[in-house]
Amino acid sequence: MAIKKIFKSNEEWKKILTPEQYHILIEAGTETAGSCAFSINREGVFHCIACDNPLFISKAIIESETKWPSFFEPYSPESIILKEDHTIGMKRTEVICARCDGHLGHVFDDGPPPTYKRYCINGTVLKFVAGEKRK
Ligand SMILES: [Zn+2]
Repeated sequence: MAIKKIFKSNEEWKKILTPEQYHILIEAGTETAGSCAFSINREGVFHCIACDNPLFISKAIIESETKWPSFFEPYSPESIILKEDHTIGMKRTEVICARCDGHLGHVFDDGPPPTYKRYCINGTVLKFVAGEKRK
């Protein structure tokens, strides 16, 4: 299933997004640690706040000690794009929404089985739809 891309100018995004969502998605910002730490005990799907692309499921949440929502796998391999990021002088892998190219967070190799990945995501740019299941 190929993701249909959406393209908007920065001005158009500014009209849709809050200043904090814009800072994270468009300017690759990071929310304040702990601002969106959550524990979800209902099944559901996390979507991109900007374009509604399904990104992660509640069953993939990692109980992480970092103060950001963390997952061990994306909704599907097509949901996200991974890109090398050298911006802070260390090699990291940036996680990008495959539909709108918005910045979501980073992925690290210290996650639990079965993937050993930890997708560390800004909760500010996620929208939780309770009760939804992965298709
Ligand atoms: Zn998106």
